[in-house]
Amino acid sequence: MSFATPHVGQLPATLRSGLGHEGVLELIRKAGAARVSAYAPYSQFRVGAALISDNGGTFVGCNVENASYGLTICAERSTMFAMIAGEGALARVRALAIVCEPDVSGASCGACLQVLAELGPNAYVYFPGPSGSYNELPVKELLPIGFTLGVAPEIVPGQGTQVASEVPSSPRQVSGSLTNR
Ligand SMILES: [Zn+2]
Repeated sequence: MSFATPHVGQLPATLRSGLGHEGVLELIRKAGAARVSAYAPYSQFRVGAALISDNGGTFVGCNVENASYGLTICAERSTMFAMIAGEGALARVRALAIVCEPDVSGASCGACLQVLAELGPNAYVYFPGPSGSYNELPVKELLPIGFTLGVAPEIVPGQGTQVASEVPSSPRQVSGSLTNR
């Protein structure tokens, strides 16, 4: 992952997430602070995340490992679950910043991107780089075709795959017995 853009002085006044440059730096600072709390005795790979919801709420999280390994949860998901716990089922992610070990490009894992595609389909993700730079990437670029319940991608022979419809904006729009009421 390159961090060629953006740098201070080249930035638009408002980023695509609607946050200003200082807002993004503050979000990255909060993610870095949350990283200190990480429970990572097995990998020693500590990660912090911070998000701003569509409602303007701020939530932080960190990775929490477990001796079984498989029960480990990433910082991104623990942060998004804190948002749901704090604001309810309709809360959605507006911007998410992730801070991991220095000099490591901390791209999110597929599981976290799948959750983010549902809880923040229009969200932007910020990965800090060197010297105060960061990347701003929309979740739709990070996970162009995620899993959606009951909506199968349309396969066009020789032309790749096209998504048939959008992710439901609310759990209540999912019909059937799995509806979250
Ligand atoms: Zn993850």
